Amino acid sequence: MSASPSDLPKHDLLIDGQRVPPGTGAYTTDINPATETPLALVAQGSEADVDTAVRAARAALKGWAGMRAADRARILNRFADLLETHAEELVTLESQDAGKPLAAVRRQDVPAVIDTVRYYAGWCDKIHGSVIPARPDALTYTVREPVGVVGAIVPWNFPLMIGMWKIAPALACGCTLIVKPAEITPLSALRVAELALQAGVPPGVFNVVTGKGSVVGNAIVAHRGIDKVTFTGSPGVGRGIMQGAAANFKRVTLELGGKSANVIFADANIDAATRAAASGIFFNAGQVCSAGSRILAQRQVYDEVVERLAARARAIRVGDPAAPDTTMGPLVSAAQMKTVLDYVDIGNKEGASAVTGGKRIGERGFFVEPTVFANVEHEMRISQEEIFGPVASVIPFDDDADAVRIANGTAFSLAAGVWSADIARVHKVAGELRAGTVWINTYGYTDVRLPWGGAGDSGLGREHGDAAIENFTEPKAIWLSLR
Ligand code: NAD
Repeated sequence: MSASPSDLPKHDLLIDGQRVPPGTGAYTTDINPATETPLALVAQGSEADVDTAVRAARAALKGWAGMRAADRARILNRFADLLETHAEELVTLESQDAGKPLAAVRRQDVPAVIDTVRYYAGWCDKIHGSVIPARPDALTYTVREPVGVVGAIVPWNFPLMIGMWKIAPALACGCTLIVKPAEITPLSALRVAELALQAGVPPGVFNVVTGKGSVVGNAIVAHRGIDKVTFTGSPGVGRGIMQGAAANFKRVTLELGGKSANVIFADANIDAATRAAASGIFFNAGQVCSAGSRILAQRQVYDEVVERLAARARAIRVGDPAAPDTTMGPLVSAAQMKTVLDYVDIGNKEGASAVTGGKRIGERGFFVEPTVFANVEHEMRISQEEIFGPVASVIPFDDDADAVRIANGTAFSLAAGVWSADIARVHKVAGELRAGTVWINTYGYTDVRLPWGGAGDSGLGREHGDAAIENFTEPKAIWLSLR
């Protein structure tokens, strides 16, 4: 049963503290990926709407950047309090919009979002320069100033959490923002921006322009009134953003894809390793940039790893995200489901064997079985390309050097895992893995206090921690003559 468009909630853009209809008057229907029923009508922003938002953000910059840092911190803490008060509403919104199990959003995404805001609230009055003596006849020192107006382009896999990884540090640094959520998961960003206003973030500081990447995203990248673009998404779009940003030398941070290796040595605790490896690839239906999509198993334990992973995959409860015992929801869209099922075909044709999974579940909602491929060779496409779905490729290796060669043998370098009881080996291998994050005898944790990002096709720069403070500020050197 689906609502008629006139019954659906209608979401306008949020610019300069007001909900405003898009200039074109066009709206798209946002759907629930678990049921394929319409959830809301969402404004299709245009280049002109981005321009209006940039003017608002620019006008608000002086006041926000010039505010006493402790006052900005108080507003951000109030924002965190409001997110906490509205946590259950945000959990439901995010679950319905992105198809995530309610329990997972409640346990992981929303607490991480609140933690991120509180963490950066703490930074507001700790952003400072230093006195750097250069010569006796001058006082020479540095200050850090906000980078200016920021365009934040956010993907659909963790709309709230990845969005806040950009919003909170930008606000803490005194920047103003135009946020563009992914077209298919726009609801939480709009609600969060309303809560920010309610917390006292002045109008114009935090704007949300919903719409297509090729229109709104592109307009953000091209706009000369934007000083920095922070982007999380696919390598293809990231490349275009970097090229586009060159027009006015915008600062750019790119968090892109991954094909992370989770390396299991024969001397590891195989039960713990396979449990973590299963959640490393099946959490969020595999739609995770750091998903451990390549499980490298030492030859002596290869069959055991495959069997245990397959058993864990079969035990996953895939279904209604609102049901309390659901551990995996649908993929986010029909397009993503098609991509994943196409990769399953590719894997079969390449000669890998799907020991479990590989099919769509049901005919309504974009559900795909958790899938484990064995007999995967390093050169196969399912071992080299990001699938962004619940598909594990298990690859054998012989020794440490072989493991490192395979793990480092893709275009990506976001994350990796290593499992072994040998403490010298794990340190050595962790040092040799080309990855922005290495988990040893664990997998998948993130925390806003630690740097996050990768190189190569995984992106440029780091988010989180003090790296984000550097991303959203510019240092200025000041000379005062003492003569
Ligand atoms: P995507 O690149 O298609 O879209 C990301 C965002 O960019 C969306 O808001 C989209 O509307 C916008 N966009 C699309 N075309 C654009 C254009 N021409 N100009 C400007 N903006 C444009 O990615 P996605 O499908 O939403 O997300 C999946 C990808 O994101 C995967 O590759 C995944 O690995 C990556 N990802 C990376 C991280 C990380 O931290 N490294 C985290 C999550 C997701």
